[in-house]
Amino acid sequence: MSDKNHKRDTRIVSAGRDSKWTKGVINPPVFRASTIVFDTMDQMRQASAGKADGEMFYGRRGTPTHFAFQSAIAELEGGVGTALYPSGAAAISGALLSFLKSGDHLLMVDSVYEPTRDLCEQVLAGFGVETTYYDPLIGEGIRELIRPNTRVLFLESPGSITMEVQDVPTLCRIAHEHDLITMLDNTWASPINCRPFEMGVDISIQAATKYIVGHSDVMMGTATANEKHWRQLQEHSYLMGQCTSPDDVFLAARGLRTLGVRLAQHEKNALTIAHWLASRPEVDHIRHPAFETCPGHEFFKRDFSGSNGLFSFVLKQGNLKATTAFVEQMAHFKMGFSWGGYESLILSVNGIDKIRSATDWDSSKPLIRLHIGLEDPEDLIADLEAGFERFNAVMQA
Ligand SMILES: *Cc1c(COP(=O)(O)O)cnc(C)c1O
Repeated sequence: MSDKNHKRDTRIVSAGRDSKWTKGVINPPVFRASTIVFDTMDQMRQASAGKADGEMFYGRRGTPTHFAFQSAIAELEGGVGTALYPSGAAAISGALLSFLKSGDHLLMVDSVYEPTRDLCEQVLAGFGVETTYYDPLIGEGIRELIRPNTRVLFLESPGSITMEVQDVPTLCRIAHEHDLITMLDNTWASPINCRPFEMGVDISIQAATKYIVGHSDVMMGTATANEKHWRQLQEHSYLMGQCTSPDDVFLAARGLRTLGVRLAQHEKNALTIAHWLASRPEVDHIRHPAFETCPGHEFFKRDFSGSNGLFSFVLKQGNLKATTAFVEQMAHFKMGFSWGGYESLILSVNGIDKIRSATDWDSSKPLIRLHIGLEDPEDLIADLEAGFERFNAVMQA
C-alpha cells in the first residue's frame, strides 16, 4: 500500500497494490464475473453487507481487478473512493447526474470539453437543469452568478483546446461558502500533476482514456469523491448500471504504472517543440500552461507540479486552405481526436467562437492543437517545419 507521504513516483508504483486484491500477484489479474456464488447464507449476508466496500457480491459491483484499480486512482487523486465508467464522457454525466435534480442550476466553465457542453444543452436542459457558462478566468466574479438554486460548480483546468488555467482554490472556496458541490475535469493534470482535493474539489474526474491508459486502445472514465460525496456518487453509478470490463480495467491499471515516466517524456518533448514554435514568425502565441502567454499561467505555476504533451498555438493569420495544407501530409503527426497515447496528433480547430457563450474568441486567427508523443522531437520539428512551408505556399499564392 502506498502512503501519501511517499514521493509521487513511489505512489504511482504502489497505489492500490493491496494483497487483499492482488493475492501477491504484481498486476491484479483479470477477474471476469457476473455471478458470484456463496457456500452459506451467512457468507451471502456478509457479502451483501459489504457490497459497497469492495466485497465480491455481484459482477456489476466489481471484482478485485476493479477494486485494486479504484483504490489506486482514489489514492493518487487524494479522494476516498473512485467510481469507474465506460468512458470519460460517462464519468462526467455520471458525476453531474448523481447530484443534480430538476430545478437545479449548474455553473459550467465556458472553455469546457465540447461534449460536456452538449450534455448540458441536450440532456440536462431536458431534465429541467439550467446551465450558466462562466469565463474560466472569472475568479471572485463567480459570486455574482451563484443563485439560490445553484447546486454544482463545474471546472476544467486547463480548458479544452484553448488551455485557460483556472484559479481552482478561489473558485472552490467561494462555491463552498454557498454550499455548492465542486467538480473538476482533471484529465489534463492526470492524477499526478495537481492535488484537486487539497484545492477544494469535491469530485475529480479523469478521462482515463487519455494518459492513464496511455496507449490509445481503451476507453474509460473515473470519478473520485471526497468523504462527504462518495456514497452518493457510488450508489448512483451502481443504480445507473455503470460498469467496466475487467479486461479494460486490467489495461488501464497496467498503463497507470508507467504514467510518471511517460508524462515526464511527453512534457520534455512538448516543451522543446513549444519553444521552437514560439520562435516561428507565423505564430502569434503559445497556449501551453507553462508559457506566460497562456491565460492563467500564474495558477499553473502555483497549483501544478508538471505539464504533459498537450498544448495549442495560435497563428497570426491564415485561412482554411492554408491550415488544411499545414495539417495534412504530416509524416508523424496524425489527425485524430483524443490524446494521451504515445503517438503525436495534430488538430486544426475551427469555430471555437461557436462553442463559447460567456467569452469571446477571435476566429480570424487559426488555432492548432498538438499532442506531442514519444517520438524524437527533432523528427517532429522537421515535420512541423515542412507543414509551415505548405502553409506559407498557400498564403503567398
Ligand atoms: C477526452 C476527454 C473527455 C472524454 O473522455 P472519453 O473517454 O473520450 O469519453 C473528457 N474531458 C476531457 C478534458 C477530455 O480530453
